[in-house]
Amino acid sequence: MSNEESFPEIREGVRRLCADFPGEYWRELDRDRAYPTAFVSALTRDGYLAALIPEEYGGLGLGLGAATAILEEVHRSGSNGGAAHAQMYTMGALLRHGSEAQKTEYLPKIASGELRLQAFGVTEPTAGTDTTRLTTFAKRDGDRYIVNGQKIWISRAEHSDLLLLLCRTSPRDPARPSAGMSVLLVDMREAVGNGLTIRPIRTMINHATTELYFDDLSVPAANLIGEEGKGFKYILDGMNAERILIAAECIGDGRFFIDRATAYAKEREVFGRKIGANQGIQFPIARAHVQLTAAALMVDHAARMFDEGRVPGTEANMAKMLASEASWYAADMCIQTHGGFGFAEEYDVERKFRETRLYQIAPISTNLILSHVATHSLGLPKSF
Ligand SMILES: Cc1cc2nc3c(=O)[nH]c(=O)nc-3n(C[C@H](O)[C@H](O)[C@H](O)COP(=O)(O)OP(=O)(O)OC[C@H]3O[C@@H](n4cnc5c(N)ncnc54)[C@H](O)[C@@H]3O)c2cc1C
Repeated sequence: MSNEESFPEIREGVRRLCADFPGEYWRELDRDRAYPTAFVSALTRDGYLAALIPEEYGGLGLGLGAATAILEEVHRSGSNGGAAHAQMYTMGALLRHGSEAQKTEYLPKIASGELRLQAFGVTEPTAGTDTTRLTTFAKRDGDRYIVNGQKIWISRAEHSDLLLLLCRTSPRDPARPSAGMSVLLVDMREAVGNGLTIRPIRTMINHATTELYFDDLSVPAANLIGEEGKGFKYILDGMNAERILIAAECIGDGRFFIDRATAYAKEREVFGRKIGANQGIQFPIARAHVQLTAAALMVDHAARMFDEGRVPGTEANMAKMLASEASWYAADMCIQTHGGFGFAEEYDVERKFRETRLYQIAPISTNLILSHVATHSLGLPKSF
């Protein structure tokens, strides 16, 4: 069975949901850089954003493989899971490392949609990918933490009730750079205007991303996830799931481009023949299909390892790299196949072209993946 045929009922349900959100819905939002509230509400209503939350906390209790099928279908339909995908993997830190009291308080409300956990705060303007250099600091003061610092590219912060924040709780020790970081669950409803300021960043795509400024924000110490100082490890645990899910979105994007290019090539006539009869048009479509099929197998493999309880660090990275490059090749091919119409908004190809480009940068850029593979899999010397 190819991975396109796995979880048929889930795929069919997601397709039906997405049919209510056609191209013109996304185009209008894209023009205004507006958040797809109705789409996210529908995904929540049907339980898809709670796919990975165990049934005892009100979720669907599914594995990562099922979650990849959900996001792949969202993207294949022309929709964009970027508006809500973080809820699927961000809650993993709470699920794996939160106390029983925290899980009981938050997970059922996240599953029902009463609370939105869409914001994930790691990146900082000066640290960049070198996460151990982050400087946002939470200082313990009795039963509170006082947080000061700045984050950048924190997506969906304006559309989330909770923020999972990675910050320092002790200064960086060059001998143990990843120690001394902690994870706090910040209640944005109380924080905004009381020490937290959100400033939106307008970007090439409609992604609701922002900068966050912390100025003596007070957070209850009870909102610490796990143990103080071990936060980096907790975040890393969640990153494999994040990379695999984003890779699945790329597979969905790639299938969207291949579907659209194939349909257009069969229908468009120039020089008295269908353009799809020319091998110069056929071969790039076929190549995109070959590359995407291979990448999809890697995504599947990484998801299966995750669901078996293994740690697919390298596999998640490889899946994300292969899928993001395959979707980008398919995007470029699709524009080329459409000729001038590839640039027309109403075809949705130019929007998806912009959207899929992100995934070679976020959540981790290609060079950092290659560096991981070079040093971890091949034993080459570390460059940093
Ligand atoms: C739209 C959008 C949404 C995002 N959402 C979130 C979010 O919700 N939460 C969050 O925490 N972050 C988010 N991010 C941040 C994202 O994860 C980072 O942008 C990404 O990891 C790259 O980090 P950087 O931008 O700091 O690049 P940098 O670290 O500054 O790197 C710049 C370039 O240099 C390359 N480079 C750096 N060092 C090396 C090296 N040693 N060798 C070779 N090449 C190198 C990188 O590969 C990259 O191409 C988002 C970003 C975007 C654009």
